[in-house]
Amino acid sequence: MRVPPEQDAAIEALLADPAYIGHPLHTALAQLYRQLQEQVRQLDRITRISDGYQSAARREAYTLTERLNKQVRQLEKIARISDRYQTMLQDLNKRLERESTHDALTALANRRLALARLGECVATAASPWCIALVDVDHFKQINDTHGHEAGDLALLAIAHSLKDPDGHCALVARWGGEEFLLLWTGVDAVGASGHAQLLREKVQAGAPQVDGMALNVTASFGIAQWRAGESINALLRRADAALYVAKRAGRNQVRIAAIDL
Ligand code: GH3
Ligand code: MG
Ligand code: MG
Repeated sequence: MRVPPEQDAAIEALLADPAYIGHPLHTALAQLYRQLQEQVRQLDRITRISDGYQSAARREAYTLTERLNKQVRQLEKIARISDRYQTMLQDLNKRLERESTHDALTALANRRLALARLGECVATAASPWCIALVDVDHFKQINDTHGHEAGDLALLAIAHSLKDPDGHCALVARWGGEEFLLLWTGVDAVGASGHAQLLREKVQAGAPQVDGMALNVTASFGIAQWRAGESINALLRRADAALYVAKRAGRNQVRIAAIDL
């Protein structure tokens, strides 16, 4: 607070004027003037303190906002990292799931997945359904003559030939080494055998070339139609027996297992 300077000067002039010394109002005016000056000083002090507080509060508010923004930015970063990790984890899970149920070389279903599907077929007992065990003929010879890589190439070509674009097979799996398993649902042994003959021809025609020459690749098929109440092992044994008959009969053949084996 400020007393206008001309008013200040007027009061001081009055108080200094010898003509008014001793006048009763002179003492009162002097006292009032001193009180006024004291109050002005106190007001100035309070104003200064208040200004100080206000700018300190502004500074504090500013740093709080800054800190808050920084924390929000950090949280956003953490959320982004966490999202990335979750996506990575989901991808990893999918990969693990796929790797545990599929074959690395041919990308076909593996034995584990095949067994699970056979288990489902037994459980639902949706008759008729059939399997075939498929074994590559003289595969050891392919490896021995042309090398393991050529053998792998032949396995890839066989897998490609067995994969069924028309959807006749409910499943084509790599059963192990150079053996494959086929599953037909809603098809009896005669229907499965007809389709297997086509696949057998496809395997032979689809042999890959090595050093400019087509490999001699054939496979034998042993088919078994599931009997109500039959276990998976019993069904596999009958398919294997039919496969053995196909091998004994000269290979590159399809044979159907006897129902009552
Ligand atoms: P058969 O007509 O009686 O079935 O004769 P085969 O030579 O096919 O039978 P055998 O069981 O003697 O040989 C199977 C061969 O398959 C032996 C093994 O080294 C080879 N094999 C198994 N898995 C793989 C694979 O993933 N890659 C390659 N290149 N060879 C494999
Ligand atoms: Mg074999
Ligand atoms: Mg073989």
